[in-house]
Amino acid sequence: MLILLGPPGAGKGTQAQRLMAQHGLIQLSTGDMLRAAVKDGSDVGRRAKAIMEAGQLVPDEIVTSLIADRLDKEAHAPGFIFDGYPRTQAQAESLDELLAERGLALDQVIELTVDEQALVERISGRFTCARCNEGYHDRFKLPKAAGVCDICGSTEFKRRPDDNAETVRARLAEYRAKTAPILPYYEAKGLVARVDGMAEIAAVSQAIEAILARDAVAG
Ligand code: AMP
Repeated sequence: MLILLGPPGAGKGTQAQRLMAQHGLIQLSTGDMLRAAVKDGSDVGRRAKAIMEAGQLVPDEIVTSLIADRLDKEAHAPGFIFDGYPRTQAQAESLDELLAERGLALDQVIELTVDEQALVERISGRFTCARCNEGYHDRFKLPKAAGVCDICGSTEFKRRPDDNAETVRARLAEYRAKTAPILPYYEAKGLVARVDGMAEIAAVSQAIEAILARDAVAG
């Protein structure tokens, strides 16, 4: 049971995907769930759309109920990676309750640390395969063959509407005001490890793996 914490663009989604592939853990990304709800035009999607486009946080009770539903649906998963949740103190406390009710506990909170200046550039260049969701970047990771997904061969790609410079700045401000302040809560429980999120993707993965291996050895 792992939380990936860090501002937008820190690489949480990328690392969560790698951890899923390597450890069979299930990624629970409230951002992905909300984007799916917006696409479906559900009640939750209608409530969340404008808030997300403004780069603000969706109300706690909405995201917490999305997480609770998924924990129940995936009850037999070997473990979860929380990506983009919790983002407020209230969410952190709700997550503790949800886990305790199900006999689960957090093992680790990994904070991906970043240089905020570089984030805007990192986020505004990113796009994903419309079919398999593989992540790419205009400067740092183009497909090997131009316009063709390395993984599934699709030629369709998409960009998130909130990945523009102005919204990114609002998302960073929300992170600083509401999410970064929950770190001491987890520090007090001795759960936080820090990884340099500005390093190469493979190096970040290695650093995370080293932390997980250390903890497994330590029991
Ligand atoms: P993400 O994909 O994690 O960057 O999330 C995209 C957007 O979804 C955020 O900017 C928020 O508007 C909303 N969102 C995702 N997760 C949460 C959360 N845990 N709490 C509140 N809003 C969230």
